[in-house]
Amino acid sequence: ALLEKPISKRRDSEAVQKAKILYASCMNENKIEKADVKPLLSILKHSPFRWPVLESNIGPEGLWSERRFSLVQALATLRGQYSSSVFIRLYVAADDKISNRYILKLDQASLSLASREDYLQNTTDAKSYRDAFLQFMVDTAVLLGANASRAESDMKSVLKLEVKIAEIMIPYENRTSEVMYNKMNISELSAMIPQFDWLGYIKKVIDTKLYPELKDIGPSENVIVRVPQYFKDLFRILENEKKKTLANYLVWRMVSSRLFNLSRRFQYRWLEFSRVIHGTTTLLPQWDKCVDLVENALPYVVGKMFVNAHFQEDKKEMMEELTEGIRWAFIDILEKENDWMDSETKRKAHEKAKAVMAKVGYPQFIMNDTYINEDIKTLKFTESDYFGNVLQTRKYAAQSDFYWLRKEVPKTEWFTSPTTVNAFYSASTNQIRFPAGELQKPFFWGTEYPRSLSYGAIGVIVGHEFTHGFDNNGRKYDKNGNLDPWWTTDSEEKFKEKTKCMINQYNNYYWKQAGLYVKGKRTLAENIADNGGLREAFRAYRKWIAEKRGGEEEPLLPGLEFTHNQLFFLSYAHVRCNSFRPESAREQIYTGAHSPPQFRVIGAMSNFEEFRKAFSCPPNTTMNRGAESCRLW
Ligand SMILES: [Zn+2]
Repeated sequence: ALLEKPISKRRDSEAVQKAKILYASCMNENKIEKADVKPLLSILKHSPFRWPVLESNIGPEGLWSERRFSLVQALATLRGQYSSSVFIRLYVAADDKISNRYILKLDQASLSLASREDYLQNTTDAKSYRDAFLQFMVDTAVLLGANASRAESDMKSVLKLEVKIAEIMIPYENRTSEVMYNKMNISELSAMIPQFDWLGYIKKVIDTKLYPELKDIGPSENVIVRVPQYFKDLFRILENEKKKTLANYLVWRMVSSRLFNLSRRFQYRWLEFSRVIHGTTTLLPQWDKCVDLVENALPYVVGKMFVNAHFQEDKKEMMEELTEGIRWAFIDILEKENDWMDSETKRKAHEKAKAVMAKVGYPQFIMNDTYINEDIKTLKFTESDYFGNVLQTRKYAAQSDFYWLRKEVPKTEWFTSPTTVNAFYSASTNQIRFPAGELQKPFFWGTEYPRSLSYGAIGVIVGHEFTHGFDNNGRKYDKNGNLDPWWTTDSEEKFKEKTKCMINQYNNYYWKQAGLYVKGKRTLAENIADNGGLREAFRAYRKWIAEKRGGEEEPLLPGLEFTHNQLFFLSYAHVRCNSFRPESAREQIYTGAHSPPQFRVIGAMSNFEEFRKAFSCPPNTTMNRGAESCRLW
């Protein structure tokens, strides 16, 4: 509704006017229907996106030529103009070992289907996904002018190529911070993988008209190569692949990400595909899609509008109370109950806990109109050109992280969109982050509600994020955010031993909706955070009762017989309440970092003695693991 209000040249900042124009262009469905396929066809008539499968069916200028095909150029345009990472993911982030400096990182990129298993398994599900995907590519090519049998054979080769890439991708469980830290300069990378012009690629991706200081990037530029083996295998595959198939694939990736910006008939074809792989039954209403577009394209502009309309500054006070309560509880547990960590490591854990910094609501800079207007000054939207506007937002997103490359990491700042309904831990800054979107019901309950509800919901979330600093990955980073081992070997061994219990516990949860078992190793970090968060928040709640109410329980809620300890746990379970279609349940198991919501509740609560006390759970039941309980923090 905020974006629908008419533009006021007097009241709205330049940035807000832009957001409203972008929204209006997206809502102009008549215009989008009339434009139909034209805006995409004009891209397909120019290098590097001439599409072999179309032959000369969209006119002679659309004819692809093998002789003129350049892999480097096509990949660089996808990344640099469309913010689309194919085969290679190039981005700027903090150097894990020098966390106040930015560096270029190279990683594997995602494929068309969400999980590797979709390409590799021979189950009925996986096969039906691949069939649906192939047919989707074929039909899309035909809608754009391809001959059907040509499309069929060309797209079969494209699918085969993606299967080959899926085979060499490094699985999530093997992607640990220390294994992925391979720092080298571009000339060393080129010596290791000589088939690809790495320097040429990087220089083509970065727009040095925007960032003249990056013209100096040369062979001595450092990069972190996160998956060296993947890249070696990748270019072995690519050099043996037909150029035509490579071009068909790269243009497919461009086409598929633009289908949503075309007329309805393309979106309905996507829906048919999505019905098979996600169980989706309808398209999002246009307004919903347009809000998403503007929110993603201009997160700080929409963020400020949201904060001004819906965020109450006094929420920061209760967040401060919760954060300090959690910090105290984590340290108290560490000092009083941790019997496996030696004193040297404990001292450092204590220091790290004290250094965790909380960011709440929104970053201050979004309130500075001059700064925000300047930040998006290259964006010039027009109400009548939705497709053109979208391309501008892609280019803007594609280039935005290079802004940081030569700058120092602003360790006390944060860059999270305020409308995000989620919370985060950042290892490189040792920050826990709670954007305004998360600080609403059912997570955040105001001071007019019992504290038990808030501690059980947002309190557990604060504890969860805090504990990420000490999970199987976060624990490797020190209080300054550097990947620098601070654990003694003995404490590290004991930690690893204890994680086995939790891996095992979650491995045994069978999720009916997905027809699959939870992946205990894959979800370990999140399970550690859930278990720690629940304990810390409960302890912080009891301390609040002891200190702020002299030990007297909060008044019971009228008509409910639950104690506040019970309400604390109910509030946590309430937050996790969710429902899944079988298709998305399956995807959650294969690609998600978290356990399914019901096991996020059962897993952590059944390990916790205060839960079984609150509900008098008999020993050795699902909700009371007794001596079998797993615990890290
Ligand atoms: Zn988490």
